[in-house]
Amino acid sequence: MKCRFCQTKLEDVFLDLINAPASNSYLTKEQLDTPEVFYPCKVYVCQKCKLVQIDEYKKSDEIFNNNYAYFSSYSTSWLAHSKKYVAMIINRLSLGEDALVTEIASNDGYLLQYFKERGIPCVGIEPTSCTASVAKSKGIKVIEEFFTADLAKKIEKSDLILGNNVLAHLPEINDFVQGLKVALKASGTITMEFPHLLNIIKENQFDTIYHEHFSYLSFYTVKQIFEKHGLKLYDVEKISTHGGSLRIYATHKENSDIVIQESVRELLEEEKEFGLLEMDIYKTFQAKANRVKHKLLEFLLKVKKEKKRLVAYGAAAKGNTLLNYAGVKNDLIEFVVDKSPHKQGMFLPASHIPIVNEEEIMKLKPDYILIFPWNIKEEIMKQLSYTQKWNCKFVVGVPHLEIF
Ligand SMILES: [Zn+2]
Repeated sequence: MKCRFCQTKLEDVFLDLINAPASNSYLTKEQLDTPEVFYPCKVYVCQKCKLVQIDEYKKSDEIFNNNYAYFSSYSTSWLAHSKKYVAMIINRLSLGEDALVTEIASNDGYLLQYFKERGIPCVGIEPTSCTASVAKSKGIKVIEEFFTADLAKKIEKSDLILGNNVLAHLPEINDFVQGLKVALKASGTITMEFPHLLNIIKENQFDTIYHEHFSYLSFYTVKQIFEKHGLKLYDVEKISTHGGSLRIYATHKENSDIVIQESVRELLEEEKEFGLLEMDIYKTFQAKANRVKHKLLEFLLKVKKEKKRLVAYGAAAKGNTLLNYAGVKNDLIEFVVDKSPHKQGMFLPASHIPIVNEEEIMKLKPDYILIFPWNIKEEIMKQLSYTQKWNCKFVVGVPHLEIF
């Protein structure tokens, strides 16, 4: 297996989760009695460019299953984040009615709706038809395809191209970044947000690792990838989403009007100090993941022994990775609550934990609620604050087991 960016042979394992089902392959009641497919889940780090990456295996169709897609608009904090970004970027780039904004992986129009509100022409690129159709119903123009270098040649050039949590999801990262170069106007800007590898390592966020995430990115590596394709990074911001992400700003290498901000040098320095340029740090991660797993199991078994009731919140990929690696089934967690009506009535893959509506919490009055999306735990704890009436406690497993 070779590095998907620089083609160096991959020999160093960053994390081995042994195997896992496709993390969004929620099961119907009937499917509980049929075999489930598990894929190896081994993550490598490239010695040369330090790109942390997962093998593609044989998957695509099953893993990018259309039926139970994630709808961005179900997260209030994500909407607020997007709205704030739109106001900031319109101001920073002086975008007006003559500009064109393109969002790659525009989902259900959660973000472009705010450009539309401001009268700025925008288009979304979104291959998943169920989310794309929601965006269209909001009056947003959507191209229902994957963004590739080929597609980039066919579409109108943009003043701003943005992509949130898309860089990590690409099997063909070179083709994608090459496409960005093609689709960008001479004076245009690209912004991309992605979880920062530095935080993933520092905060034991191994549950963010699943098959749909092909790459785990440092600024150091992303800079190499963009430069290879004639783009330069001129600014970077740390943002709090997904447990600590980066928002990078890129433009054409030839665009001499743009000054490279001090933030670029500073972050490269920080990553170097943390050790991301050397191989040693990458060898520490498996032990960190194992520690999280063992602590969670200890806690769940203790709860069981004390005959307390425990449920979970958030039927998303993070929870599936954690449960699957820990080997937890529906004997230790009674159900998982999720806002999305598309998931309610289904079951988590592998663990077969039922996904239910929030009303079930009121009925059961559990002693503990394990929150899987720890990155939005404040939002969830606020939403579930009524559970304090019966002294229910909240729990997260990552970065380490904590009870609130
Ligand atoms: Zn490489």
